[in-house]
Amino acid sequence: MEFAALAAAFREIEAQSSRIRVTTRLAELFRSAPGDAGILPYLLQGQLGPPYAAPDLGLDEQRIALALATAARVPIAEIERLYDQQGDLGLVAESLLAPSSGPGPTVREVYDRLRLIAATVGIGSAVEKVRLLRDLLGRTGGDTARYLIRIVEGRLRLGVGDATVLDALSIVSAGNLSARPRIARAYGLCADLGVVADRLLSGGLSALDEIHPTPGRPVLPALAGRLPSASEVIRRLGPVIAEPKYDGLRLQAHKDGDRVWLFTRRLEEVTGAFPEIVGAVRGQVAAHQAILDGEAVGYEPRTGAFLPFQQTARRRRKYRIAELEASFPLRYYLFDLLLLDGQDLTSAPQRQRSGLLDSIVRSEPSAAIDVAPRVETDNPRELEVFVAEMLRRGLEGAVAKRPDAPYEAGTRGLHWVKLKREHGESLLDTFDLVVLGYDRGRGRRARLGIGSLLCGVYDPERDRFRTVSRVGSGLTDDEWLRLREMLDASATPARPSPVDSLVEPDVWVEPRYVLEVVAGEIIRSPRHTCGMENGQPGYALRFPRVSGFRFDRRPVDATTQAEVVELYRLQRARSTGDIFPTGYDAATGSTRPDRAER
Ligand code: AMP
Repeated sequence: MEFAALAAAFREIEAQSSRIRVTTRLAELFRSAPGDAGILPYLLQGQLGPPYAAPDLGLDEQRIALALATAARVPIAEIERLYDQQGDLGLVAESLLAPSSGPGPTVREVYDRLRLIAATVGIGSAVEKVRLLRDLLGRTGGDTARYLIRIVEGRLRLGVGDATVLDALSIVSAGNLSARPRIARAYGLCADLGVVADRLLSGGLSALDEIHPTPGRPVLPALAGRLPSASEVIRRLGPVIAEPKYDGLRLQAHKDGDRVWLFTRRLEEVTGAFPEIVGAVRGQVAAHQAILDGEAVGYEPRTGAFLPFQQTARRRRKYRIAELEASFPLRYYLFDLLLLDGQDLTSAPQRQRSGLLDSIVRSEPSAAIDVAPRVETDNPRELEVFVAEMLRRGLEGAVAKRPDAPYEAGTRGLHWVKLKREHGESLLDTFDLVVLGYDRGRGRRARLGIGSLLCGVYDPERDRFRTVSRVGSGLTDDEWLRLREMLDASATPARPSPVDSLVEPDVWVEPRYVLEVVAGEIIRSPRHTCGMENGQPGYALRFPRVSGFRFDRRPVDATTQAEVVELYRLQRARSTGDIFPTGYDAATGSTRPDRAER
């Protein structure tokens, strides 16, 4: 496919607010260029590879402007003048480079050329990168140049999330969304939409079954759902495996012989930051090949007490690692095993995975790796006691796991359920919210230039962020100022396309940062779009307060709309004393309507 045809699709997608139409357009795009399916997902998201391995072009704005000036044969000062006028280098390129009459580059050529620019390093590379970009720009013109520049600048922002690409691929393969779960599962196992799209278009759905976890390529971490009490957990899940919930950094460790990789929950490779964990994976894991899931928590070396998340997070540095290793040692608690010596375990039941994990990890006193302890129970009281004991030890609570469930890569469901503090009368729970915008503030806060944040939850079904609250407290003046600086760097002139909002903040920002917010209660609200359906009001948080910064989470890992709706239902049930939904049969624990009707 010609890059010009892709640019035309970008233009349509950018102008389209209906997600269904965007999805259909993407499906058409994949169908019309099956040979490019492996790279289209990257380019649609303005990347040159999957998130964990997308290379950086290494070109700053100055050099991009220089390449444009030489391609358009105008002085650099002219580019600067137009840029000041239009505020967008893509538009400047469009106005200077006329649409070319001859054949332009293909999508593959553009991709290969950009990868080549990224791979050009060493002496003289800066000049060479500019030359390579100038040649490429010289073969484009009009809006093709506009989108090329936006990709190069890392500012494409079409608002096409992973979930939308997965929907489009299901439409390509089945004509509807019925293939979505199978495609999403394959995506979860390789975290690479390019691989999934390529396999699907070349070999059909059955080719996806050949995608397995591979050392060096992260798996999307399974996420935990939420239920309010131990009895609700047992009622919904039956017997569970309960483990401590550590509040640290989620790490996935990969081992292939002597090679070890560590990935965060956002799929960033952080192998260099945790030498003691790398050493322990080599020394304590008795397997040639393994993919392990767990949480690394910092502890106070003298007392052994666990450190809070924000302190553990300081270990994720690039510099002075040895110094930090001594003052903030970590212990990596393993709780899952996804691959063992070539065998994909993700479909095996939790109980079997946990058992195999025990069998390959050599426990050693005060070593950097340990297996998370666990108990199995079907007794709500016993589970409650376990949670209370974990809280007493300074942990965050417990995670209850269904013993028969597979590893649900990238999914937040009820296969794992987190149980934090007992809520009592008020909700007082934490939510991971995405910042969507902010107001400049009044009175004292006007001096800081930031008053309240407009925050939202994620709706994975529609791949949208929907507002749930304005949050204006919880940070110090200094923190507000720093946050404002960060937000300003990702401010957008209008509401970003994946955001649903009735509220108009003073400043819109790219959905990029996740904050932990404590709230007292969930209420129905006509102002917020979270859970707003068929003219019914949405849901909002009352008495919200920022309680932490969660840079370890991607926006799509934020609290979901469904979680808020479910918590609201349970909150109401508590206040009326009826925690069971209509049709609940205490004898069987079933809520099937046929039982209720009998
Ligand atoms: P949350 O981040 O509140 O959605 O809770 C889920 C997170 O708890 C996971 O992503 C892990 O990082 C963390 N976690 C801590 N201990 C465990 C455990 N034993 N099993 C699973 N996840 C755990």
